[in-house]
Amino acid sequence: MSQIVPRRLRMRMEQLLCDRGITDSSVLAAMKNVPRHLFVQEAFAARAYEDTPLPIGHGQSISQPYVVAMMTELLQVKPGMRVLEIGTGSGYQAAILASLECTVFTIECLRNLYQNTRSLLRNLGFRAIYTHFGDGTLGLSEAAPFERIIVTACGPEIPQPLVDQLDEGGILLVPVGSRTTQRLCRLHKAGGRIESEELAPVTFVELVGTYGR
Ligand code: SAH
Repeated sequence: MSQIVPRRLRMRMEQLLCDRGITDSSVLAAMKNVPRHLFVQEAFAARAYEDTPLPIGHGQSISQPYVVAMMTELLQVKPGMRVLEIGTGSGYQAAILASLECTVFTIECLRNLYQNTRSLLRNLGFRAIYTHFGDGTLGLSEAAPFERIIVTACGPEIPQPLVDQLDEGGILLVPVGSRTTQRLCRLHKAGGRIESEELAPVTFVELVGTYGR
């Protein structure tokens, strides 16, 4: 399956990510190995290895490869970690995390997208990804706590349930801001305290729901 798109396109994408400052070799390997063309609409498959967001239907989009790689690097995952993702979308970010040997719990609030992505991930054989339908801003209390939490849509505030469901020593990565001005925030829970840092400006689709817009 991974042979459908020429290897050179993937190699070029890997080089591009290196040029933009991604240095983690396991992240680069995951980005090269996961077949992104299977996560976009067929009409856009030929452009899947360009560094651009693409439509995935339902008015949503798959993030550009650089943003996925940057966020994955910032998340500092290790094999065996339990990761919660809010905003399953195409399933691509979840697939990258699973290929880094994490157990991924991912929540999507659009039912059709949830169903399509759930069957895609099953067909591709990703057994360590647990897909859920619902409002991700509430987290997933039945499976908490999580060592890592990543939010791939932007709301006006950091949803408090996600902070509560973060494990001791855990990292929460979440874009926060208005529709026009957004920043990526990284929270670290240490000794019961929360340290937060503001990182790069980003552009994500809207986070809806109880703690969203
Ligand atoms: N991680 C995705 C990016 C998808 S775009 C990927 O790799 O393709 C963001 C997704 O977040 C959209 O599918 C949108 O429907 C979803 N979303 C927005 N608010 C949400 C919420 N409160 N709970 C769950 N999903 C949400």
